[in-house]
Amino acid sequence: MAEMQKMIPDMMPAETPSQARVLLIDDQSIVGEALRRMVENEQDIELRYCSDPTHAMGEAIEFRPTVILQDLVMPEVDGLVLLRFFRANPVTKTTPIIVLSSKEDPAIKSEAFKIGATDYLVKFPDQIEVVARIRAHTRTYLAQQQRDDAYRALRGMQIELEKKNAELQRLSSLDALTGIANRRRFDEYLDQEWLRAARDAKTFSLILIDIDHFKAYNDNYGHQGGDECLRKVARALDGALMRPGDMVARYGGEEFAVILPDTDLDGAAVIAEKLRSSIDVLGLEHRHSKTSDHVTISLGVASIVPRDGGVPATLVKMADDALYEAKEGGRNRFRIFIAEANPSIASQVG
Ligand code: GH3
Ligand code: MG
Ligand code: MG
Repeated sequence: MAEMQKMIPDMMPAETPSQARVLLIDDQSIVGEALRRMVENEQDIELRYCSDPTHAMGEAIEFRPTVILQDLVMPEVDGLVLLRFFRANPVTKTTPIIVLSSKEDPAIKSEAFKIGATDYLVKFPDQIEVVARIRAHTRTYLAQQQRDDAYRALRGMQIELEKKNAELQRLSSLDALTGIANRRRFDEYLDQEWLRAARDAKTFSLILIDIDHFKAYNDNYGHQGGDECLRKVARALDGALMRPGDMVARYGGEEFAVILPDTDLDGAAVIAEKLRSSIDVLGLEHRHSKTSDHVTISLGVASIVPRDGGVPATLVKMADDALYEAKEGGRNRFRIFIAEANPSIASQVG
């Protein structure tokens, strides 16, 4: 923001007189000479004369005039054609062009304005008029350019800001320790998938995961060792999921949760076993586990087709009950939630 505030005043039109750069295109050197004399004592006007209209575009691109003065009747190039070229080129598209003509011809004048001429002067205009018009058009042109530059810079900053916001959004949904989705993102995604499943009448599943004997792990390998273990477990769980819609999140402490959209209980059981085994085969030493000589996890699996009036917390409760069963059953295993065994929870499902 400070950056933005700093830049804006610099982009505002300056109070000092604008430096005019005039490109004159006319095949008659007498016109070139006349114009040169008209502006030679004006410190703020720099004149470049081009007598060959076939070089006009190249000169304009190189000189970047603030005003183009061009003849309409020239032997090699039709003045109106040259005008069209100027308007078609990005460099001279908006440069003020004053066309010079030897006579007052309403038809040519009208055609020139239609193509994009800014102003029209009949040769030879007087010095005061030429200088005044050059200054007026230069001021307008430079002010417009400054506005365009300012808008472009603002647009650039806006795009930067949007990128940073998107990055912040991403970071705010990630768990700082493990880099997988955090609890906030889990809650969001659960609500979202709950609604989608309700709308489409689809089954979706949830797996709650808890590392076995993790307190003992921490006590013996230290908190940093525990953190490293959490990172490895998170990475392995994440790696075991294949569908883009599947999501593993850190649910809290040493607990993880996996959301499986459009997946029934059988499918979820297969994935639960895959997750269990992915940690088992890591073989992370855990000499103080009562279950194994390495780190293991227990998992609770539940599936639901959301009904009107149901809430996602019901599914979490179901998975949590199944997880409890897995712990009771000896750990390093998954259990699925059985409605018949839990009539009180099952009745909330509808
Ligand atoms: P169980 O097999 O029944 O799950 O036993 P447990 O020891 O894993 O369960 P308990 O809930 O008693 O202990 C969980 C431990 O997880 C407690 C805490 O020290 C540890 N823990 C929770 N969050 C973190 C963390 O962010 N980093 C580390 N290093 N340890 C954590
Ligand atoms: Mg726990
Ligand atoms: Mg535990």
